[in-house]
Amino acid sequence: MTVKRTHRPAVSPLRFMALAVFLGLCYSAALVDAAAAALTDAATKINFDDNLGGLHLFGVGVRKKGPIKVYSVGMYSDEAAKSSIASLPKTKSALTALRKSLKSSKTTSFLLKMNFKVGAEKMADAIAESVDPRTSDKGAVDALKKLIMDGVAAKGAATPGTTLQFDCSSDGAVKVSVDGKAVGSAPGLSEPFCDVFLDDNGVSPAFRESVIENCCGVASLSSSSSSAQQTSTTHSSHNPIHLVGSLFYHKLKLPKLPYKYNALQPIISEKTLRAHHLKHNAKYIESVNQIVSEGGASLKHLSLEQIVKSKAIMESNAVLYNNAAQCWNHQFFWRCMSGSGGGGEPKGLLAKIIRRDFGSFDNLRKEMESSAMKAFGSGWTWLGYDKRKKKLVVSTMTGAGNPLLEGITPVLVIDMWEHAYYLDYQTNRKDYIDGFFDRLVNWNYAQQNLKHAMGKGIVPETVHHVSHHGLPLVAALFSANYAKKAAMHMLFQQS
Ligand code: FE
Repeated sequence: MTVKRTHRPAVSPLRFMALAVFLGLCYSAALVDAAAAALTDAATKINFDDNLGGLHLFGVGVRKKGPIKVYSVGMYSDEAAKSSIASLPKTKSALTALRKSLKSSKTTSFLLKMNFKVGAEKMADAIAESVDPRTSDKGAVDALKKLIMDGVAAKGAATPGTTLQFDCSSDGAVKVSVDGKAVGSAPGLSEPFCDVFLDDNGVSPAFRESVIENCCGVASLSSSSSSAQQTSTTHSSHNPIHLVGSLFYHKLKLPKLPYKYNALQPIISEKTLRAHHLKHNAKYIESVNQIVSEGGASLKHLSLEQIVKSKAIMESNAVLYNNAAQCWNHQFFWRCMSGSGGGGEPKGLLAKIIRRDFGSFDNLRKEMESSAMKAFGSGWTWLGYDKRKKKLVVSTMTGAGNPLLEGITPVLVIDMWEHAYYLDYQTNRKDYIDGFFDRLVNWNYAQQNLKHAMGKGIVPETVHHVSHHGLPLVAALFSANYAKKAAMHMLFQQS
């Protein structure tokens, strides 16, 4: 039976307020649940929560000894440290900046979760041997070694599941705990201990990759900080997809185009590009900011990429998901075109992989054109890299579709919404697509995206663990669907 709300008796103000609070809590919990940045080490399947005593998770990785996966490590530190590298490109140099930034952090914690049984002495030796070459204070290393040995020996051995925690303080001390039980502190080793995992010879390359992958390249598009906008613009012409914005504490701002409005003529007219950018793209930005501003603190910590990758958010808040994905897609699309002579054929690695996966560039172009021409309604035609199958794939997704949701890394996209071409081509979509390939496509950008997607090292998956830090427990007990059903039930019980 269809129920029209206009025919329902008014809800009493008191019950309405209670319901609003209840819904707000449930909704926040559901979103935090959906986008929690907890991580799983792909090598060991060991999980790390997104938060440790108020500190944020930076990355996770496996520590191997030969073929043995000894433990997984996760690093936690404060928001300032995380922000300090958020706008940096995903390169090793970001870790140098992070090490510098961590010197100002009150506490940086490393959690070592055992995957393999190791005796107390061996475990203490292994960690001490890693710290030793990074400091001249041999007495402090001995003190650390003794703490680890005592802590682990108290439970017999470091068996799978055992957790060793090292809290590196700004005063230089490293506090050791085993399975949550404090053992003691070794002085003066804070910096060398961080270096064990973060410097160029760090003991877990996968961990270093993970920190870079999870913390860098999420520059704010904010305009409350002109420097943030500048960063985004500066990198727009040569950085791959990772600079697509984040909502960390700032509102999104319409990104500047990496070229002038008339630069894509005659393929895309200035009139079309202005309307596309200043009206359509701007509207998506405005909508996301509006939704986030009304959605509470939990939403403000989500990056666009976190939203676009979240099936839970897509299902529980389609309006937010669609607008955020359109923001992401457009910023990506702008960079897929060159204002100074695009088009032609790709070169280098991209050309080689295209030949491998499609036989020839012509085949790829035909497949993308065919896919775009068959699209029903508005959408996006993507070239993406499927890391699981290790190959390039073509897909056309309707609406605000984005292959990140399917674990595929975008390499190139064509906007197949009518607003992208209708003023110039009306229904003649083929000419628009041909023009894109002949004169506009930025293969350098696509190549950078492919290189990132094919990068070596372990890229951990973001898992959607239940997380309700800072939220009342009652809120965390309810999923979004349950909350929705409960709310509807309560509303209709009013009559
Ligand atoms: Fe568009």
